[in-house]
Amino acid sequence: MQPRRKTRQIAVGDERTGVVRIGGDAPVSVQTMTSGFTHDIDACVAEINRLAAAGADIVRVAVPEKKDTAALPEILAQTSVPIVADVHFHYRRALEAVEAGVHKIRLNPGNIADRAQVIEVIRACKAANSGRGIPIRVGVNEGSIIERKDKQKRAAELGAFFGDHKHGALLAIMIAKLEEYLDIFYEQDFTDICISAKSMDATIAIDAYTEISQRFDHPLHLGVTHAGPVETGRIRSVAALGALLAGGVGDTIRISYASDPVHEVEDGLELLWSLGLRDRKGAELIACPTCGRIQVDLLTLTQRVRTTLAEHIDVPMKVAVMGCVVNGPGEAEGADVAVFAGDRKGIIYVQGERVATVPEAEILDRLLAECRAFQDRVHAGDARLGEKNVNIVPPDPEGELGSGWAKIAAARLTVEGE
Ligand code: SF4
Repeated sequence: MQPRRKTRQIAVGDERTGVVRIGGDAPVSVQTMTSGFTHDIDACVAEINRLAAAGADIVRVAVPEKKDTAALPEILAQTSVPIVADVHFHYRRALEAVEAGVHKIRLNPGNIADRAQVIEVIRACKAANSGRGIPIRVGVNEGSIIERKDKQKRAAELGAFFGDHKHGALLAIMIAKLEEYLDIFYEQDFTDICISAKSMDATIAIDAYTEISQRFDHPLHLGVTHAGPVETGRIRSVAALGALLAGGVGDTIRISYASDPVHEVEDGLELLWSLGLRDRKGAELIACPTCGRIQVDLLTLTQRVRTTLAEHIDVPMKVAVMGCVVNGPGEAEGADVAVFAGDRKGIIYVQGERVATVPEAEILDRLLAECRAFQDRVHAGDARLGEKNVNIVPPDPEGELGSGWAKIAAARLTVEGE
């Protein structure tokens, strides 16, 4: 892990929602976007609150029509997370959203008709929030940077793009556009800015953000755009965002899926937790992938443990669910609470101390009971996470645990004469 690149800091939110800081020494924040219509107030409020409950720090809503910005005051009154208005094409939507009291505007100056309109939005953002101002995210997306109105310019840009099948020309256009857009903001003495440069291609996203991070000190909003459904988008997003964050680049993230945005929040948080960039909330589950040694239904057990822990455990304890004696003791030693299975039974450990051996049908309940008891001790200050009190002595796999006994016996060589 590289140290995080130093950036300026912006603040998103107010006294009521709390202020989320982006950049500087602030923790990397997780953003997402609603998938429904903003003008459907009840549904929009319900979606925002569901995303906030899942852990979203900031939620963005699209405001393509006047009825969407008209809905914002009621939405803001019923939600308690900072809200960003996503504006494309119509600068008036940005002005209306600022007037409604949103906490940040996302703008792609490239699709606003003229510079005077962008300036009007900048001035409105500067004056908002009782003169304290609200920030603007300046976004260039790979899909929308090629010139559309000026046909000659478009031909030249497309020619440069397709004339070079590597992505160097595309990066050059993205950076040139960004510089061009930022000049408008600087001319207005407006630096309350966050930058994004998204692509659907993970390698372009990595190169674009790396390049931009070396040129500007504004905080960066990372994302791989149009990444697809969770099943494939997850890998593409984490490949790019994981590489960038590990390299010290990125101040806020949005993972985007063609799926329920709750998955965006869950995966964004898991990514930051995995990289140690945020303090984990809730249990961290370690589980073996199972193999031919397995003698309990570990895959079902693991899923049940995952959902049960998410519901009942709020301290970041490590919980291991292992299939047999081969790797079970090692993982159990590193975990706060662990089970490793044998022949239709499981041995449960708490910080290395063996507390129970139970039949398969009772593993889930007993494991949860031990996790809750351990959590209570942590809350009371009687136990500390990550402490190892006892070295685990692995049970005899052919003896009491019976793990793989038949297979071990079947594989044993019989040496003639013995
Ligand atoms: S812990 Fe045992 S059952 Fe699980 S993958 Fe490893 S060897 Fe296989």
